[in-house]
Amino acid sequence: MKKVLLFDFGGTLDTNGVHWGEKYWEAYKKLGLSISKKQYEEAYVYSESYMAGVVKPTDTFKTTLIYQILFQLLYLRNKKYLLPEEDSDLLYKMSDLCYGDVLLATEKSSQLIKKLNSSFVLGLVSNFYGNLSTVLNELSFTNYFETVIDSSEVGIRKPDPKIFQIAVDRLGVLPEEVIVIGDSYSRDIVPSKTIGCSTIWLDGKSWTRPSETSKADFVIHSIEEVSDTVLET
Ligand SMILES: [Mg+2]
Repeated sequence: MKKVLLFDFGGTLDTNGVHWGEKYWEAYKKLGLSISKKQYEEAYVYSESYMAGVVKPTDTFKTTLIYQILFQLLYLRNKKYLLPEEDSDLLYKMSDLCYGDVLLATEKSSQLIKKLNSSFVLGLVSNFYGNLSTVLNELSFTNYFETVIDSSEVGIRKPDPKIFQIAVDRLGVLPEEVIVIGDSYSRDIVPSKTIGCSTIWLDGKSWTRPSETSKADFVIHSIEEVSDTVLET
C-alpha cells in the first residue's frame, strides 16, 4: 500500500511557504507604496471577509487574486491610506506581480507533485473559496490528486480536524498512513496530528509565529525538501 501525502494549497504549493498575508505585503512594498503594515493588515482582513460571497466555482486563481486585491484597495482608498498620486493602475500592477510569482512557484511545485505521484497517493485539503478544482486545472495540477477537499464545498474549515478526517475517510486509509504537509502550524499541523497523521511543517514566512512547534514531525523551509523528507519516513 502506497503512503498518502495530504497537501495544503494556499501558502504551500502556490507560494512555496509564504503566507498570502505576507505575499501581498511584499508586493505593496515592491511597488513602493507608503501604507503602513498595520493599515495593510486591516485591508487584508477586510478583503478576506468578503471573498466567500463573490467567488464562483468557475473563477480562476487570477480572478480570485483580482477580487482580493480589489477589496484591499477599496478599503485603503476609503480610509485615505493611499496617497492620490500612488493610486493609479494599482489593481493591474498588484495582480500581475502576484500572479507572476504564483506561476513561477507552481511551475516548480507542480513538477514536484508530478514526481511524487508515482510513489505516493496524493490529496489536497485547503481552506478555499469553492473554486479549487478550477484553480488546479489552471495551474497544471490536473489529475494528480486522488481527493481534493475545498473547505467551501464541505462546509468545514481548518483548523477543525474533521476536514482532515474527511480526506482520510474518502481515501479509505488510516490516519497513521497519512503525512500532512502545510505552511500553517496551527491550521495544518496541529489538527492533523490530533487525528493521528504524521506531519511536515513548511516553515516559511508566516502571518503569525506559533509559540511552540513540537507537533511537527519534520520541519522544512522549502517545498522541494518534501521529496527527501518523505523518503525518510
Ligand atoms: Mg496554507
